[in-house]
Amino acid sequence: MTTSSHSSIRREYDALVVGARCAGAATAMLLARAGLRVLAVDRDREGSDTISTHALMRGGVVQLVRWGLIDRLRATGTPAVRSATFHYGDEALPFAVKPRDGVDALYAPRRTVLDPILVDAARAAGAQVVHGAALAEVVRGASGRVEGAVIETLDGARARVAARIVIGADGARSRAARLVSAPTERAGRHACGVVYGHWSGLEVEGYHWYYRPGVSAGAIPTGDGRTCVFAALPRPRLLDALPGGVDAVYREVLAEAAPELAAALGSARLDARLQPFPGIPGFMRRAWGPGWALVGDAGYFKDPITAHGITDALRDAELLARAVASGTEAALAAYQAARDAASVELFEVTDRIASFEWDLEEAKGLHRLLARHMASEVELLGALDVVCVPGQPPLPSGASCGYSSS
Ligand SMILES: Cc1cc2nc3c(=O)[nH]c(=O)nc-3n(C[C@H](O)[C@H](O)[C@H](O)COP(=O)(O)OP(=O)(O)OC[C@H]3O[C@@H](n4cnc5c(N)ncnc54)[C@H](O)[C@@H]3O)c2cc1C
Repeated sequence: MTTSSHSSIRREYDALVVGARCAGAATAMLLARAGLRVLAVDRDREGSDTISTHALMRGGVVQLVRWGLIDRLRATGTPAVRSATFHYGDEALPFAVKPRDGVDALYAPRRTVLDPILVDAARAAGAQVVHGAALAEVVRGASGRVEGAVIETLDGARARVAARIVIGADGARSRAARLVSAPTERAGRHACGVVYGHWSGLEVEGYHWYYRPGVSAGAIPTGDGRTCVFAALPRPRLLDALPGGVDAVYREVLAEAAPELAAALGSARLDARLQPFPGIPGFMRRAWGPGWALVGDAGYFKDPITAHGITDALRDAELLARAVASGTEAALAAYQAARDAASVELFEVTDRIASFEWDLEEAKGLHRLLARHMASEVELLGALDVVCVPGQPPLPSGASCGYSSS
């Protein structure tokens, strides 16, 4: 793996990407493949974990296939997921993952596995990726247009970088979004609390999603023989319960939502501490403006209850990269239109599921809507005209990155 140090940061790039995980590293990779000079910075340590379970849906796997990265993922030993079982109370509805769209299995790589694959691919394409470096300020020209940024490294050194576009891929609490004053255009009303941990010695075949009134749970097989097991509950209940200990609320909710899974944990081993996530209501922010754009959770965050954020980040990385490479503001506006058209239904369904105000029949209906959404998402990706594999021109050639208003 090649690394890049802070001292190698140059003064000028076509694109500066802030955040180098699934949204940022994928965007940097695609822009570099299109021939742009790209710097991606992330304040986190390279290869570090982040708060997230990590089930990919079909659209996410489709992207890894289209980008020529699926073999790298398989080589990590991340197991193929060939079924998903939805448990509504005592009723279990199993579904096979049908081979289609170039995908014969789903995968749930830990973020310590997926994010480095994307970072390596970005570097292989020619992007410079620097960790331990954070966006401090954006730099604006006389017209107010964003023309670059100030990057601060861990030792407090600051570098001023000029870029034709600054892309915020810095997560739900995006500093980039704050600095460019990106308005929130749609807001969710609900938020789940989630507690999860990784277990070894648990035999689980495929994804399992559990629903009972007021609670939910899931089991997600991942690499190294581990299974991620999460418990989800309304945010206020988690906040009330946390003073009693994360472990107690985790076990209580699992016993309610998935009694058999809870019992099976008795003979399994928890790898590290349980991770609580207290929940954030979803939002969709304006995705672009003069000299800036947002991608991934920075622009559009939905509750993790539908396990779809990574998949959407990989989808939108390509929609945005294509817009940036084509170099017009009209293309950026089209990026937002495509993102929104592909996301609004999922956003609303997710918010409804996160309310926990459903009964099991309604939950089934919401999941049918979700399945319809996922099918159109895959259709959208399949309709993108050029396959983005190394060695082929992935994005419109002659990328100018000199924005005009047409
Ligand atoms: C509890 C939980 C469970 C989830 N489960 C799933 C799931 O099963 N499946 C799924 O698809 N999605 C899931 N998600 C959603 C998923 O984690 C996100 O959608 C995804 O991480 C978004 O990726 P991103 O690259 O946009 O942002 P992030 O992964 O948040 O990465 C942003 C990066 O930006 C960096 N950064 C922040 N500020 C700065 C700065 N100022 N300068 C430089 N760098 C900065 C951060 O250090 C970070 O590395 C879950 C989320 C949560 C919270």
